[in-house]
Amino acid sequence: MKYSASCHCGNVKLLLETDLKIVKQCNCSICKRKNAKMNILPKDAIISISGEENLSTYQFGTNVAKHYFCKNCGIYTHHQRKSDPNGIGVNIGCIDDIDSFQYDADVLDMKNK
Ligand SMILES: [Zn+2]
Repeated sequence: MKYSASCHCGNVKLLLETDLKIVKQCNCSICKRKNAKMNILPKDAIISISGEENLSTYQFGTNVAKHYFCKNCGIYTHHQRKSDPNGIGVNIGCIDDIDSFQYDADVLDMKNK
């Protein structure tokens, strides 16, 4: 299925291809603060990003993962994963036509990695 996703102000929009099967919440130092449920996907699941110039990137530690958020509204949209360079996590709260509260998230235990 194709889904559109957006940050809060709408400057950043993503088009995704996903079955929304793998939904996780990670307990690492940044994810526990964002507290977002994430759909774990291969990188090419993002078909397109519009307003990409509105994204800022946050990196820390080993600087492998890239955490993207909107410069204007601050919403975390997606990130490139550290544990899988071809993998991304997408904030399911940004997906426009789903109720993210209906999705249960398993814990992704990255706290000690
Ligand atoms: Zn925004």
